[in-house]
Amino acid sequence: MQYQPAAERYQQMEYRRSGRSGLKLPAISLGLWHNFGDSTRTDNSRALLRHAFDCGITHFDLANNYGPPPGSAEENFGRILREDFHAWRDELIISTKAGYTMWDGPYGDWGSRKYLISSLDQSLKRMGLEYVDIFYHHRPDPETPLEETMMALDQVVRQGKALYAAISNYPAGQAAAAFKILRELGTPCLIHQPKYSLFERQPEEGLLDVLQRVGVGCIAFSPLAGGVLTDRYLHGIPEDSRAASGSRFLTAGQLTADKMHKVQQLNAIAQRRGQKLAQMALAWVLRQPAMTSVLIGASKTSQIDDAVQMLQQSRLSAEELQEIESLLR
Ligand code: NDP
Repeated sequence: MQYQPAAERYQQMEYRRSGRSGLKLPAISLGLWHNFGDSTRTDNSRALLRHAFDCGITHFDLANNYGPPPGSAEENFGRILREDFHAWRDELIISTKAGYTMWDGPYGDWGSRKYLISSLDQSLKRMGLEYVDIFYHHRPDPETPLEETMMALDQVVRQGKALYAAISNYPAGQAAAAFKILRELGTPCLIHQPKYSLFERQPEEGLLDVLQRVGVGCIAFSPLAGGVLTDRYLHGIPEDSRAASGSRFLTAGQLTADKMHKVQQLNAIAQRRGQKLAQMALAWVLRQPAMTSVLIGASKTSQIDDAVQMLQQSRLSAEELQEIESLLR
């Protein structure tokens, strides 16, 4: 049946300005790293996208290499976009990235102008789009001069292939240098995408301060640590979970007794708040003043509901923050 988005979709979501740009993003964004490749059921991928948009999630995040196989998430997303979202393109913020291995040879990886521009052209073809809203350099390249990578981002924006430029996984110092180059080129960086969660605190060591100072937004990826910061693994490893899927990014071995003990303690605090652990973990990330959005993954529409319902109760008291802090120490 032809998809018709929910009429009340903008009522439950909160929209936050990305740094000092003109663009607002939903406090919750949906990433397509998992559950959109060729090995997943299209009907589920479609249901996730429809449900997210019905909840006011206007931002979908991709990368050239999402799949598996690499590129298939963009292809599958492109098909659903044409079939379901064609009339709503102007209500969507679609991002993609280049920076990790995508094709053989010296031009299919890292941060050269050659790689970034060819990769974005390929991404646009796969998704059937004329432009993406945000184009990211996915990770810093230790060999390519930062100027070359940033000039490539500036160029794709000037060509109209992307509306905004962004970076991901850059440590504070390199991020500040990248922001300066982009600003001088006349294409200010829209947003930075670091990994940040209760279990991943690196951005607190300088990056979040830099972002606030220079007015660049922040969208945290893996805010639920891939599902560990939820009730998913409290009683073992469910068959349909990421940890059981053979993903090298979340293995059973990573669910150590020490980590699961912390998860149990965090879960008890969340329960006391009358909330699910996933919801408290997202609220905890969003408490940062520098934070524009949390970028979640989902395998079920109910997980999207959990995230959206969190917005009804996103405030953490000083005592709760202190308690969380002392158990993580
Ligand atoms: P999360 O930390 O949000 O983990 C998502 C997983 O957690 C889901 O697939 C699901 O796992 C589980 N989950 C989500 N909500 C709930 C819930 N309410 N209850 C129980 N379990 C839940 O994020 P991801 O690691 O998936 O990353 C999100 C996005 O970030 C990616 O899609 C991508 O867009 C981006 N990203 C960017 C990177 C970069 O380098 N820039 C790197 C990695 C990700 P299950 O499948 O087991 O149900």
